[in-house]
Amino acid sequence: MVATTGDAGAMTIKLHDTRQGRKVPFDPLIEGEVTMYLCGPTVYNYAHIGNARPAVVFDLLARVLRRRYKLKFARNFTDVDDKINAASIQTGKPINEITERFMQIYNEDMGALGVLLPDAEPRATEHIAEMVEMIAALVEKECAYESGGHVLFDVEAYKDYGALSNRSLREMIAGARVEVADYKKNAHDFVLWKPSTPELPGWDSPWGRGRPGWHIECSAMAAKHLGETIDIHAGGQDLIFPHHENELAQSRCAHDGRDFARYWVHNGFLSIDHEKMSKSIGNVLLVHNLVETTPGEVIRMALLSAHYRQPLDWSDDTVESARRMLDRLYGAVRGIEVSNAARAAAQPLDSVVAALEDDLNTPKAMAEFFGLAKKLNKETDENEQHRLAAEMVVTGDLLGLLQNDPEAWFAGHVEGELSAGDIEVLIDKRNAARAAKDFAAADAIRDQLAAAGVQIEDSPDGTTWRRP
Ligand code: AMP
Ligand code: ZN
Repeated sequence: MVATTGDAGAMTIKLHDTRQGRKVPFDPLIEGEVTMYLCGPTVYNYAHIGNARPAVVFDLLARVLRRRYKLKFARNFTDVDDKINAASIQTGKPINEITERFMQIYNEDMGALGVLLPDAEPRATEHIAEMVEMIAALVEKECAYESGGHVLFDVEAYKDYGALSNRSLREMIAGARVEVADYKKNAHDFVLWKPSTPELPGWDSPWGRGRPGWHIECSAMAAKHLGETIDIHAGGQDLIFPHHENELAQSRCAHDGRDFARYWVHNGFLSIDHEKMSKSIGNVLLVHNLVETTPGEVIRMALLSAHYRQPLDWSDDTVESARRMLDRLYGAVRGIEVSNAARAAAQPLDSVVAALEDDLNTPKAMAEFFGLAKKLNKETDENEQHRLAAEMVVTGDLLGLLQNDPEAWFAGHVEGELSAGDIEVLIDKRNAARAAKDFAAADAIRDQLAAAGVQIEDSPDGTTWRRP
């Protein structure tokens, strides 16, 4: 039998569109092509596991879309922001040093979770001219006004304000607890441009030296890289209001009413042990730290284990169950060689593709994937084993899972044993201790490894380890 994309190829992709409030068939503006924009991080610190959820979820959506369409996917870096300014003052480090560092760390940390680089990574500071141009157009069209050194978007000028987040401007005004700055006509008017003092980052503009507000960034960068009307706009649920509502309003006004995004997709929130993640509770889990002890694939599997629109609670159990799921998948393909030719000939499992194309139903996709693993476990015919193993591997490629050699995976963590990752971390720590001449600490780590059955050997080329 020739492998084909099968039935899944015939059906349309379905996505839940926040604006319509329901799951709808996906139909891009230009046949065969898709544009997608995801609001990216503000780069002044490490990404936490909640921030990783949209990165992983929309990486998967990008992979699913790429099977059928020529996709252009942009994810921005917000590298001008008051929180960055505050971090610079607090640490005494120049702003661009902070933003460069955290952009790189973000891509490394997300890369460890199997997140592929998007097609464009626009930075706000490299699009100031586009923002100024867009703001000028808004002023010209009387959708924005200058007041007290600021330029503000006039929400009354856009009649559909509130349509995305499903609230009416009148109700908003009635329930307003927004502090009304005296330079605003309406409490909900939002800042497009604000003045900068000499020590703050600033750019020349028709309204004096200043810096952009947050919302205008994404509108200007989306238009520049993807066009005035994009197919998919994505982000976390918390961004629906005001960020996305504001992006939508200003983009439509600037572009003579043309639609901004045809589909809005939003991921649900991640909590930790049933609590909101927050600095004050002290439960903020950084991806940068987590990847030191937990394989990136386990984190990815855990993030994809719940449907993206559902809340996801993160706990030790979430991680352990993701690890076991991967054990099952790796266990099935272990010891079966998958040649490059077999891999090239294989297609991802139809039912997994169908589940993913149905509003990214990852729980269903995983269940189907485990079904395939079970089938392979039971298979006795060698040719069929190779075919199924190849099918598993390419299904893993689509999901961004099963990217390691099974033996390397299992070398990591037989029940109760230190994983390979844990061992590497301990060896690095021991080498750091030795470099610092803290020999007591270095010996303690060697003893800890020995107690776990791991022998290490130092040579001029570095330290190697084995389990005798
Ligand atoms: P921020 O840097 O706060 O703008 O967040 C970057 C992205 O992470 C946005 O898409 C947010 O919606 C998303 N995000 C922040 N916190 C969480 C969370 N706890 N769970 C899921 N997504 C989150
Ligand atoms: Zn945005």
